[in-house]
Amino acid sequence: MAKYSLESFMTKKVLFVTPDESLKNITRLMSKKSLSSVLVVKDNKPVGIITERDIVKYLSSFLNSLNKTDATHHYPVATELMTHNPITVNKSQTLQESLIVCVVNTIRHLPVIDDDGDLCGIMTYTDIANELLEVNQRLQDLSLVDPLLEIGNRRAMELALKSTHELSRRYSHHYTVVMIDIDYFKKYNDHYGHQAGDKALQNVAACIKNSLRASDYVYRYGGEEFLVLLPQTEADGAKILAQRILDTVINGAIPHCESPFNTVTVSCGIACYDEDSKDGVSQWMQVVKHADEALYNSKSAGRNQLSLYLNIDKT
Ligand code: GH3
Ligand code: MG
Ligand code: MG
Repeated sequence: MAKYSLESFMTKKVLFVTPDESLKNITRLMSKKSLSSVLVVKDNKPVGIITERDIVKYLSSFLNSLNKTDATHHYPVATELMTHNPITVNKSQTLQESLIVCVVNTIRHLPVIDDDGDLCGIMTYTDIANELLEVNQRLQDLSLVDPLLEIGNRRAMELALKSTHELSRRYSHHYTVVMIDIDYFKKYNDHYGHQAGDKALQNVAACIKNSLRASDYVYRYGGEEFLVLLPQTEADGAKILAQRILDTVINGAIPHCESPFNTVTVSCGIACYDEDSKDGVSQWMQVVKHADEALYNSKSAGRNQLSLYLNIDKT
């Protein structure tokens, strides 16, 4: 994972008290600002931290002393309540390092200092954990690979389709997409279980990959659907390739007792981008939609077969 330094995440405006601040003012500040702890700062350096626990500890001994008639009450100031020399992190350290410091020392508040030891911010354990979760999510969103099938994901597919479409338009090339959907896959999952379903998906992905030429690409379109992109390929070439995929999957002989074929099969829908086509395909989304319609035809015609989007007069 990329390293994210604290500087961009820490809270820069830190509420703190001085070492001689009275308990009354400290509790007032904590209550007013809903703080579970407050930093004690001297000459811009964090010298202590007072947590709710420190206050409770003091209150407990104070209440005990009330029973003793000869007790004289002493009201402490910050320096008597605080934990001295709080654990700090340098602002150049990473979120990950800070999280480790919090976990190892079981602390929830982490003052952030600069190279001179001056206070420049504060992070809480929750802030750090939330930021890391968000960063992880952002990285996942940026990912182009489907983690289960180790092929391009939907995002990678869209990027490739956009650029292939643009290039094909500019240079008057064809390209073809093949939508592939596993047949009766819900039944497969229901019968063999989700884990076996995942394994079957991986097998089918491998069958598709093995059927492609070096210049073709396969992406996970979603669920149990794949999209194969064939640059500079016309319908006839795509049909041969789609047939090869059907054959490779069926020859893979993954048992599927709930399918009329007794083995896992796929259906394919093919659509070509052709600048001269009558319906004037202007967007890659349109080509994908056509392939999807062709796939639907393969499904209705009995599955385990391919169909070409028509525009048939060209084939
Ligand atoms: P059809 O022949 O018409 O395509 O029927 P189908 O059952 O394959 O289609 P349907 O859309 O009804 O069901 C798709 C199933 O694919 C349901 C869903 O649980 C399963 N599926 C989708 N993604 C995954 C996955 O990542 N792992 C597993 N194990 N199953 C998945
Ligand atoms: Mg489907
Ligand atoms: Mg299906």
